[in-house]
Amino acid sequence: MRITENIFLFDGIGSSSNIYLIDNQLLVDTGLGISFEKIIGDIRDAGLSLEKINIILNTHCHYDHIGGNRLFKKLTNAEIYAPELDAENIETGKDTFYELFRSDFISSKVDRKLKDGEIIKTENYSFKIIHTPGHTKGSICLYEPEKKILISGDTLFSDSVGRTDLAGGNESELINSLKKLQKPDIEILLPGHGNFKKGGIKELIKNMINFLE
Ligand SMILES: [Zn+2]
Repeated sequence: MRITENIFLFDGIGSSSNIYLIDNQLLVDTGLGISFEKIIGDIRDAGLSLEKINIILNTHCHYDHIGGNRLFKKLTNAEIYAPELDAENIETGKDTFYELFRSDFISSKVDRKLKDGEIIKTENYSFKIIHTPGHTKGSICLYEPEKKILISGDTLFSDSVGRTDLAGGNESELINSLKKLQKPDIEILLPGHGNFKKGGIKELIKNMINFLE
């Protein structure tokens, strides 16, 4: 599904995460790695080319976001970027909860470990990494200030927030992260699961903080 010019959302089938492809270059999250043929078929049907993908970026270490890393890497030879504090989990499987998704753990090497404030550029976009711990220690969001887009992983959904009861989760850290997200001007929210949202993001974040506090 095309969301804006050059940003596509591919439905994470089953309990897989959403998969975003930006400028046919940057792939954000890779789902569980199930129904992979269907997903790559959808990417090709959208007129995009897998060979042009040069960055695979994970918003955090949970297996429903990283399970497809190896399959996409094999097809694209893209580099894998992930939050520095979740990188070890992605490589070892620890606290990725692959068992919960009834999957076998397939390791993927992280090529670049992302820190707060770093910029990831594609042809038309420039995303700033915002470290937003709470759902996991390393969780990150990607913010595009010019287009006012936030890719939020499992930190913020269009009607709720990510759970904090799993290993690495922390509710007060999540509240602080949501407060951090009150500063940027956001018009489009692209979450790790469920529908995307246009408008009303400030109110959403405020309501979520009030709900948690
Ligand atoms: Zn998660």
